[in-house]
Amino acid sequence: MAPSLDPEGWSDLRALGHRVLEDMFDYLADIRDRPVWQRMPDSLRQELRSPMPRAPESPAATYDAVCRLIVPYATGNVHPRFMGWVHGGGNPIGMLAELIAGGLNANLGGRDHAPIEIERQVVSWAAEMVGMPPATSGLLVTGTSIANMIAVLVARRAAAGPGVRGNGLCGQQLTAYAARTAHGCIARAMDMAGLGSDALRLIDCNEDHRIDLAHLERTVQQDRAAGAEPFLVVGSAGTVDVGAVDDLAGLAAFCQTESLWFHVDGAFGALAMLSPRYRTLFSGIEDADSLAFDFHKWAQVPYDAGCILVRDGAKHADTFAMTSTYLRREERGLAGGHPWPCDLGPDLSRGFRALKVWMTLRAYGADQLGQVVEQSCAVARHLAARVSAEPALELLAPVALNIVCFRVRSDTEPDKLNRDVVADLQEAGIAAPSTNTVNGKLAIRAAIVNHRTSPADVDAMVDAILQMAAVRRAATFSQIPTP
Ligand SMILES: *Cc1c(COP(=O)(O)O)cnc(C)c1O
Repeated sequence: MAPSLDPEGWSDLRALGHRVLEDMFDYLADIRDRPVWQRMPDSLRQELRSPMPRAPESPAATYDAVCRLIVPYATGNVHPRFMGWVHGGGNPIGMLAELIAGGLNANLGGRDHAPIEIERQVVSWAAEMVGMPPATSGLLVTGTSIANMIAVLVARRAAAGPGVRGNGLCGQQLTAYAARTAHGCIARAMDMAGLGSDALRLIDCNEDHRIDLAHLERTVQQDRAAGAEPFLVVGSAGTVDVGAVDDLAGLAAFCQTESLWFHVDGAFGALAMLSPRYRTLFSGIEDADSLAFDFHKWAQVPYDAGCILVRDGAKHADTFAMTSTYLRREERGLAGGHPWPCDLGPDLSRGFRALKVWMTLRAYGADQLGQVVEQSCAVARHLAARVSAEPALELLAPVALNIVCFRVRSDTEPDKLNRDVVADLQEAGIAAPSTNTVNGKLAIRAAIVNHRTSPADVDAMVDAILQMAAVRRAATFSQIPTP
């Protein structure tokens, strides 16, 4: 008989487990002492091209490889000076939850067990957070990309009727609407749902970077006149480029009048509903037919943890539920407890990502997460003020929440200079903003999401930017080729 994968005696593995835990606590406690990011050297990458291991090695040797090959070369988003894209910082309670979830190895596709009740509670907390009704249906998913895709599919089924699941669209021209600033995953969701990304009409924005409602209304009328069937409007609660919040109440009213599905992409912004100061900006979010957001961004839950909420649970289940004999539901026993999560999305087997969300929310409380949101926005305002006070820098967009787009002024090749400075900063391990284009100009974009980021961190980043830009300018003037 082949041996089980458990050890014969547990003491060595137990000791290794304690060491791993100590090391990961040290990793978090000492994060400031390390570079934000360092590129994994080619020599180490080469080691990862070895063939599949046939023979066992000791768990300690495997862990040594983790420490040597992986830990020093991670993305860096745990670090307080990581400000690129929109990345959450994670948290130590969530880290412990991952350990427990791994041990329990629960499958949340269905059946009657406590982990599913935990996911149901997380979904109801999410609905409470944004002011949707207690009966709101929902699911934890990998991220907002897939949550947006689920929303498109539910809206498609609601608009096209039950036949669409068997027959497809049969020539129906369903069209959706979102601002030009909407995240690219919405167009991809349209593509993946079989509607085509061109069926997403991109609506202009006003100077606040919010959707232009008049242009939306005109476009919907024109499409109807041309024989298309408008079915879905997607509002952004926190755009990925500058953090703008669409007029959600205006969109909700428009969708109500026009009988259109109102979906909100609140990937990071929805968490601002936990802040008394910012929640008013999001008025109307509670009227969404569906809402997608991430716990792994502003809620600091370790990756990955996205969430889809659907107001009408019957419409949600109508989109995905299937009957098959091997998944038969029973009134009693382990096959009870329906409806099952596998009726609410494309996955059958699903991990226990709800636990890290549940433990994070319990351990810190929603109010403290709201304070983290406010602190991020305060740090962003500090950064914007600092940028405005530096003659060498210019602010490129208004700061509604936590995203600051700015750049170093330059008479010659400003886009190149700013792109180089960002790469210099990242490679020096000092800070990690990303880049973006705002009104045709390349911007340095700092998204303050990590709960560890302080005003001193953004000041250190600005100091380094000014210094690195000066070095680059000097190099250009003396015609020294840059490396
Ligand atoms: C991050 C983001 C997404 C994509 O979410 P993932 O969790 O990365 O899949 C979608 N929309 C907005 C506004 C985002 O910020």
